[in-house]
Amino acid sequence: MLHYSCDICKRPINAHADVRHVLKIEVFPAVEDIAGGCCDGGESDSDHLEEMQDLLESIDEQTSDANVSFDDGTRSMRFDLCDACRQRFVMNPLGIKSGKQLDFSNN
Ligand SMILES: [Zn+2]
Repeated sequence: MLHYSCDICKRPINAHADVRHVLKIEVFPAVEDIAGGCCDGGESDSDHLEEMQDLLESIDEQTSDANVSFDDGTRSMRFDLCDACRQRFVMNPLGIKSGKQLDFSNN
């Protein structure tokens, strides 16, 4: 019998008691015909990109690097999540810190 553990909290996922959720992330270069400046003004992007990079680095240590020889920016990742981490993930998929978002609801 296979044993899974949550890739976020490292908790073992009991196949009988817990639901195992599979998270797939695909990163690939978007090729679009539309040329032009779309500006969302997201200047704080680098914050969570750094976090994402840390996460990816720690994952790299666990997985074999058989498929990463080509580098066109395409990455396909797969994670197992426990139910608690799945709920947290869908609420905040990019792991953006909530501190900044709470600023505008300041009383
Ligand atoms: Zn978890």
